[in-house]
Amino acid sequence: MVMLTGQCLCGALRFHFDPKGANTDYCHCKMCQRWSGAPVTAWAGVPADQFEILKGTAKAYRSSPRGIRHFCAECGSTVFMTDPEGAQIGIMLGAVDNPDGLAPTGHGWVSDQISWFKTDDHLPRWERDAPYDH
Ligand SMILES: [Zn+2]
Ligand SMILES: [Zn+2]
Repeated sequence: MVMLTGQCLCGALRFHFDPKGANTDYCHCKMCQRWSGAPVTAWAGVPADQFEILKGTAKAYRSSPRGIRHFCAECGSTVFMTDPEGAQIGIMLGAVDNPDGLAPTGHGWVSDQISWFKTDDHLPRWERDAPYDH
């Protein structure tokens, strides 16, 4: 098992995870745009038992009935999210120290995609959630 590490901008929050079997995708939804302040987010989804916080405590924000977003209370970095049951973790790829091996394989929520944001890939695009999300 090769664990990947990551952290928030200030380093108060550090984590690692086993990327085995990760679902990786872009999310264009408006909630992610607001949460990150960026035009698009990119994620690695893994079962929660493959993820562990090594240092610090994430602050949680319940952004919808089915999602809890976790960020660093010191620097505000957006780091990961969970479902209410805590079964799955979505990790923001920008928070991962070395995400080169985790290229996104699809685009979720293209219904909310900003018109000027273009990528030249030919990955699958879904109007809303990726099919493996519920
Ligand atoms: Zn921080
Ligand atoms: Zn989203």
